[in-house]
Amino acid sequence: MLFRQLLDPDTSTYTYLLGDETTHEALIIDPVREQIARDTELIKELDLVLVGALETHVHADHVTAAGALREKLGCRLFVGEHAGVLTADVQLQDGDLVSFGGLALQTLATPGHTSGCVSFFCEEEGIAFTGDALLIRGCGRTDFQQGDAQTLYKSVHESILSLPESTQLYPGHDYRGRTVTTVREERQFNPRLGSSKTADEFAKIMDGLKLAYPKRIDEAIPANMASGVTEPEESKPSTEERDNWAPIERTANSVAVVSPCWVAAHPNDLRIIDVREHIEFCGPLGHIAGAELIPLSQLEKSCVQWTRNESFVLVCAYGTRSSKATGILEAKGFYQVASLRGGMTRWADEGLPRVEIMGDRTSEDATPWQAMAI
Ligand code: FE
Repeated sequence: MLFRQLLDPDTSTYTYLLGDETTHEALIIDPVREQIARDTELIKELDLVLVGALETHVHADHVTAAGALREKLGCRLFVGEHAGVLTADVQLQDGDLVSFGGLALQTLATPGHTSGCVSFFCEEEGIAFTGDALLIRGCGRTDFQQGDAQTLYKSVHESILSLPESTQLYPGHDYRGRTVTTVREERQFNPRLGSSKTADEFAKIMDGLKLAYPKRIDEAIPANMASGVTEPEESKPSTEERDNWAPIERTANSVAVVSPCWVAAHPNDLRIIDVREHIEFCGPLGHIAGAELIPLSQLEKSCVQWTRNESFVLVCAYGTRSSKATGILEAKGFYQVASLRGGMTRWADEGLPRVEIMGDRTSEDATPWQAMAI
């Protein structure tokens, strides 16, 4: 197999180019937008036919070149099914094979760094590409993009460190100049995920990392959710076009608001995001059926994987926090966003149906509270 490990020095990201030496069909894993000229030149020089661009996950530190490679070279885009990248051609499930010539990569679902992470294993060659699930003597962070330390521990142990011990592991990044490791080495020497560490010890390590907010996350995730192909300015809708999706009114501060009656009449067309605290969501005002509870302080973190063509109505008690939330989502490029006028207070005054949670809120036992429509 033809194999090239390519580095983007700014982000220490590894891109891998793999080719079948007989048919010249090739795959690229985790291509970086800034390196597209280098990579297309190499593909041309080696006389390869790029049949697929694969993502191990939605990256937060760089923008992918996958969409641009599809436009230039006509390859197909492959992404894990839980990554939510609707612009990909193939949504990969655990166990799916991606073929190139006489070779194939097997998809391994390895969530935990993000909920949509996958790794790729080439059994014939005894090599695997682990993205950010497992790095050399480390692993990707678990505090963004639905990351979860317990999930990552399970993924790494069950899907990566369970491969034959001589398997060579190629990571998504290395920040110290290392290029490859093996299952045997990581079992023995990985200080977070090696054999001597339990899942709880690992979760404690990850909890204590206190890492800085990733520099490029606000740009990278929305771009990568669209395979790196960003919308040209001229195709962005005007304010009038944006407000067509609902009977929007604009407040003096230009916040888009919708009436409770209209929201109540369109339960299936909207995502209702309640930005109050949990105690209020379950309190006497109740909440709207189907509403998702995402407190205002968590909105920026939660919205990074939402699809921009959905319609969102933000809800709070009176309309103040939901107005702020509307501004946050608009700034992140969501077009169909509005605040519920007057919040849950007005909703209740208008006699619209609410869900109220009844039960002992201080109890530690796991008996589910009764949900009752009032
Ligand atoms: Fe990552």
